[in-house]
Amino acid sequence: MELRITDAHVAVAGQEIVKGVSLSVKQGEIVVIMGPNGSGKSTLANALMGHPAYTITGGSILLDGDEIAAMKPHLRAKQGLFLSFQYPSEISGVTISSFLRTALKELRGESMPVPDFMKLLREKMAWLKMDPAFAARYLNEGFSGGEKKRCEILQLAVLEPKIALLDETDSGLDVDALKVVAQAVEQLVREKNMGALVVTHYQRLLHYLKPDTVHIMMEGKIVKSGGAELAREIEEKGYDWLKGEASPKEEAL
Ligand code: ADP
Ligand code: MG
Repeated sequence: MELRITDAHVAVAGQEIVKGVSLSVKQGEIVVIMGPNGSGKSTLANALMGHPAYTITGGSILLDGDEIAAMKPHLRAKQGLFLSFQYPSEISGVTISSFLRTALKELRGESMPVPDFMKLLREKMAWLKMDPAFAARYLNEGFSGGEKKRCEILQLAVLEPKIALLDETDSGLDVDALKVVAQAVEQLVREKNMGALVVTHYQRLLHYLKPDTVHIMMEGKIVKSGGAELAREIEEKGYDWLKGEASPKEEAL
C-alpha cells in the first residue's frame, strides 16, 4: 500500500497552513518529516486522518490510487491507516484493553474471543516492556507523556496498520523509553511491512530509527528532502540555514 500526497494544501480556522506539500510513503518504508515548531507538520498529519477542524483545500491524497480526502476517518482506518495524535485525548471509563479489543473488532469486522485477545495483548505489552497492569487503566487518563507514547505504540502493535502516521512520538520520552519505542517502530516496519510517516522536530529519535527519506518542512512547505544524512545535517546546523528555501524555489518555477 502507498500513501501519496500531491501538492496538498490545508487550512485551519480559515487560514492556509500547509501550502503545497508532496510526498509519499509505502509499506516497509520509514519517511520522516522534520521541521521547527509551527511549520504545519501536525496540521498535515491531522488533515491526513480526516480531523474535522482541518480542511484540505487543494491537491490530492491517494491511498493506492484512491482519493481519500473526503473519506471518513474510520474508513481510512479500515483501509489500514493509523494516526497517533500529538496530544491524545483522555477517555475516562474506557480501559486500554477494552478500547483495543473494540478497535480490533472494528477493523476486522469480527470480535476476537476474550482469552485470545488477552493473550495477544500480554504478548505485545511484554514486547514493549510495559507493565501488564497498564491494560486495566483508563485510556490516557493521568498518563505521563511517556506512557501515552508507549500506549500509541501498543495500539500499532495490536492493530498492525499498513501505514502509520506518528506525530511527535518522541516527545515526553526519556532515553530508555525512546529506544523501546523507536526499536518497536523499526521492527514493525522491517518485520510486519508497516509503512511509517514519522513527524518530529527532534533529531534524537533518528539516533534509533533509520529513515529511508527525510523531508524538512518550514512554513507549510517542504524545503529540502534527502536521506538519513539530512537529519544529521539538521542536528549540526539547525534549521535556520534553510530559511527562505521555499520562496526562491518557487520563483525559479
Ligand atoms: P507543527 O506541528 O509543525 O509544530 P502545527 O501544524 O501544530 O505545527 O501548527 C502550524 C500553525 O497552524 C500554527 O500557527 C498553529 O497555531 C496553527 N494551527 C494548528 N492547529 C490549529 C487549530 N486547531 N486552530 C487554529 N490554529 C491552528
Ligand atoms: Mg506538531
